[in-house]
Amino acid sequence: MVLGAMLVWPKANVPAPIVPSFLPMFGTAIFLTEILTAHLLYTQYSVSGRPVYAALSGAYVFSGVSVAMQLVAFPGVFSATGLAGSMQSAVWIWVFWHGMFPGLVGLALLVRRQFPRGSQRALNRRLIALALIAGGAVFAGAMCFAAITAATSLPNLIAGGSYRTLTDNPVGVAVILANVIAFVVLVASTRLRTLLELWLAVALLAGSVDVILTLHAGARYSVGWYAARIAAVCASSAVLGMLIWEVSHLYRSLHRAHETLMMASLRDGLTKTFNRQYFDTRFPELLGEAVSTGRPLSVLMVDVDYFKQYNDTFGHLAGDDCLRAVATALQSALRRQWDFVARFGGEEFVVVLPNCNMDSAAAIAESLRGSVEALNIGAPHSPEGRVTVSVGVATSEQQGFALVSELLQEADRGLYRAKRFGRNCVAGAEGHQ
Ligand code: GH3
Ligand code: MG
Ligand code: MG
Repeated sequence: MVLGAMLVWPKANVPAPIVPSFLPMFGTAIFLTEILTAHLLYTQYSVSGRPVYAALSGAYVFSGVSVAMQLVAFPGVFSATGLAGSMQSAVWIWVFWHGMFPGLVGLALLVRRQFPRGSQRALNRRLIALALIAGGAVFAGAMCFAAITAATSLPNLIAGGSYRTLTDNPVGVAVILANVIAFVVLVASTRLRTLLELWLAVALLAGSVDVILTLHAGARYSVGWYAARIAAVCASSAVLGMLIWEVSHLYRSLHRAHETLMMASLRDGLTKTFNRQYFDTRFPELLGEAVSTGRPLSVLMVDVDYFKQYNDTFGHLAGDDCLRAVATALQSALRRQWDFVARFGGEEFVVVLPNCNMDSAAAIAESLRGSVEALNIGAPHSPEGRVTVSVGVATSEQQGFALVSELLQEADRGLYRAKRFGRNCVAGAEGHQ
């Protein structure tokens, strides 16, 4: 921005073509960005409760109202002489607007010191916001009203588009100083630790470039005047851009946090299979669908054999590792995407197989049993010498099971039969093995 201003500097006074639509476009853009910034700052205030945001929101409302009033008074926008006030009004509004805005930002920073985080709990939040935001609007209204009604009694700053008098007037110097001092104080006092402070500093720097270039240009519709308006757009959109980026960033983080929470609430902490709560919700739904569509639903009850002794031999931490390995083996042995494993409790898992008949379920159960055996986790207390599982199988269509408890009891009976048959095998309640 500074480099751009330096490039334009030598040619700043050169007259450029008068584009009548430029100022209305510029004013509308600034008005919208200022009001949107004020709105987003107010949102930050209502979430964080920190009055500095409400105060800054008030400063941006001041700026938005000022630019709207300047458009009304500017010659050639709504009428040749401006809708309100005299030929001097628009330039006086510009002086008040650019002279006061940095001061209001400074005041907002002072508010931050007076009311650090957490100290404003006792104060009425809405009242503070209303006072600060309405204060900004009323202040701007009063300034503009003065510039419109009393412009004739104020010194003349412009003659035929040239405001050279303003450049040589102490008022012009005061406007420049207000912007530069606000920028320096902001940088020195905050050290730009937060994003808001950083982009507020960018806004004030761009504002300083705007006023210095405008005053150096000395006349409306000169090269410097057009360049300064572009700097003004940058000044106005700096904080808005940052706030929009922050909102999008927050939205993405919120989405990720929500997904993580959802996952955590559905998954078992140790084995990362689905948890009992998920099974208790999903299984009745699947059984309902199976009954209404006439399709089979199978369930496998999987229990680790001699697991108590495994814990007794190797300790509970090794037992946990073993459970994780068994769970992974069960999950990776499933081929269809709608099949799932859930931890039923302790060292027991359930495997839910929608649209799967008894024979297929028994084959899948056998492949699961084989995958656990293939892990080859040493277990000296077991007859096989390694960790194995027993599996009970049940299918809803078998005896027309329509109740969750009936189907689970059937799988449980199969599991006990598998245990009785000597473990490390698959069984159904009717003797399917
Ligand atoms: P069976 O072959 O008849 O199934 O014998 P078992 O020893 O596996 O059965 P039992 O019900 O007697 O023991 C289950 C063991 O599982 C007891 C408990 O310490 C262990 N267990 C349950 N949950 C966990 C867990 O989260 N981590 C560990 N390490 N062990 C667990
Ligand atoms: Mg058990
Ligand atoms: Mg067991």
